[in-house]
Amino acid sequence: MFYAQTIEGRRVHANDYDRTQPLICPGCRARVYLKSGNKNVTHFAHYANSDCQQFSEGESQRHLLGKQLLYSWIKSQNIKVELEAWLPEMKQRPDLLLEIDHRRIALEYQCSPIPYKKLKERTQGYQNHGYEIYWICGIDYFPHERLRDKTRMFLQKNGSLVCLDSVNGLVYQFGDFQYNKYNKLTWVQQINNISLLNVNEFEKLYCDSIDRRVLQKTTMPYPKQIALLYKKDQRHRDFLSDLYVNQHALANLPAFLFTLPNKTLVYQIPAYMWKYAFLNQLQSRLTYSQVQTFIEKLPRYETLFYKEEPLLDFIKELEARKILKRIGKKEWQVSSFPLRNK
Ligand SMILES: [Zn+2]
Repeated sequence: MFYAQTIEGRRVHANDYDRTQPLICPGCRARVYLKSGNKNVTHFAHYANSDCQQFSEGESQRHLLGKQLLYSWIKSQNIKVELEAWLPEMKQRPDLLLEIDHRRIALEYQCSPIPYKKLKERTQGYQNHGYEIYWICGIDYFPHERLRDKTRMFLQKNGSLVCLDSVNGLVYQFGDFQYNKYNKLTWVQQINNISLLNVNEFEKLYCDSIDRRVLQKTTMPYPKQIALLYKKDQRHRDFLSDLYVNQHALANLPAFLFTLPNKTLVYQIPAYMWKYAFLNQLQSRLTYSQVQTFIEKLPRYETLFYKEEPLLDFIKELEARKILKRIGKKEWQVSSFPLRNK
């Protein structure tokens, strides 16, 4: 933390502290001490065994550096900004709080892991109290070969992930996450020196949509499709037993169920499973509320901001294949049943 306070409540910045009087944490009111030195960003720290809720971030050097960097970056644009501001109405202390026109914006620089539930509560807390909130992730959130759950939950509504490398002052925008036909995760990235961005451009990283690359699709080779019979994990066993109960043979399922990639960013099961289940429950008519009900039952990854519904794309594909015929805004007639007569 950069600001501690005297017993009387006066705020003191770490750089201005002359060590003549004891200082306490403005959150938990426990005694804090000054940490400084060549390797350290000068800051206040709790003594061991603190269970402070407001500065629970562990305050790594990267986190402290990031807060400092963001603060001076915003300040340099003549924007009203406060470090470690206390919001009593919601008992939160965002890393930074800024005011632009009449918008109140919280910036959180998240370096350490945070449980999904907490991320959701804090985000909704800000929104319910009229604050906008931008989460900026630390470098531990960079995407790797796969999208880890802790990273996925920060995907923004435009499909981007915004990270700050506070040591080098670089802002990373990772976006257009897509699986390719080998089910490998791909994305594009853009790196900016933070000093070359203004807040307006920064905000765009969160909302402007990125041009999606058109990646090739393919159909799973037939031998691989048959090899699914030997998969031993519970989901495949359930899938195969559904086929058995419904008297469908894996070998006879329509090839378009096995389009690759079969991974999506939002559903936890391969596409052939939910596509099969969807086709299997079709009656002569399909309504949008049935679609909703189906979607709600799908096992889904936790994504707080990012919304995508691959099933709706599949429905469009079924329309193109003349399996579904749209007969109203929210209704379809089922023209053929591709799982029957096989
Ligand atoms: Zn504290």
